[in-house]
Amino acid sequence: MTVYLVGAGPGGVDTLTVRGLRLLERADVVVHDRLVDQDVLALIPSGAGQIDVGKHRGAAASQARINALLISLARRHDCVVRLKGGDPFVFGRGGEELLALRDAGVPVEIVPGVTSALAAPAAAGIPVTHRGLAHGVLIVTGHAGLDPEIDFADLCRRGVTLVVLMGAEQRERIARRLIGGGLPAHTPLAVIERACTSAERVVRAHLERLASLEVAPPAVIVVGAVAAIGRPDLRALAKDLHA
Ligand code: SAH
Repeated sequence: MTVYLVGAGPGGVDTLTVRGLRLLERADVVVHDRLVDQDVLALIPSGAGQIDVGKHRGAAASQARINALLISLARRHDCVVRLKGGDPFVFGRGGEELLALRDAGVPVEIVPGVTSALAAPAAAGIPVTHRGLAHGVLIVTGHAGLDPEIDFADLCRRGVTLVVLMGAEQRERIARRLIGGGLPAHTPLAVIERACTSAERVVRAHLERLASLEVAPPAVIVVGAVAAIGRPDLRALAKDLHA
């Protein structure tokens, strides 16, 4: 009948919404990604079906298969939960699933989730729009480096906090682009690995060190003066950034 596109949040059960929890408890079948925490998966009733569609092979065709799977499950079950890490519409291709389901005439409800893009810096004590230091925040993918069409260095220098998802593997390219674009090498940054889980790890540094940091995905990279908050050593160096 209905497919619920549910955001599982970035970590364990504590960052799942109450709406998400209630739907999991009455799901007939749950279709989930690789990033969803084991503790959240443990909430799925034992009688419900559980399908892992984690894109280990990453091919575009697999998205078409996931869409077809959701449509066929909706025809056979009352409550199909499509569980995605974080928020269903922050990357992760939730929008494509919504459109495919709508095209097939399947009723869909979206259950927003806590996105790692905002939860990771928050959990690390970094207020991404701290008054006086940032007047906005930009969430971008670092999957293929940073889009060369956009002057991210300039935006960041003017007080926009940059939050990069899927950037761990391209961190050297990302740092090179930003420094090459004129962002000072001493711009503060933070890397938050496995945010909101018991394995959370926060590294604070300057932009010039990004390439040499050990980072394991999933990780969020935060660049901008706000990344120095709570770290006077970084802040002193960053105070001339937004002159
Ligand atoms: N829809 C998700 C994002 C999917 S893209 C959301 O809203 O959070 C996958 C990327 O999200 C990862 O490469 C990583 O950058 C980030 N991510 C997801 N969960 C994370 C976590 N617990 N800690 C740090 N980064 C995370």
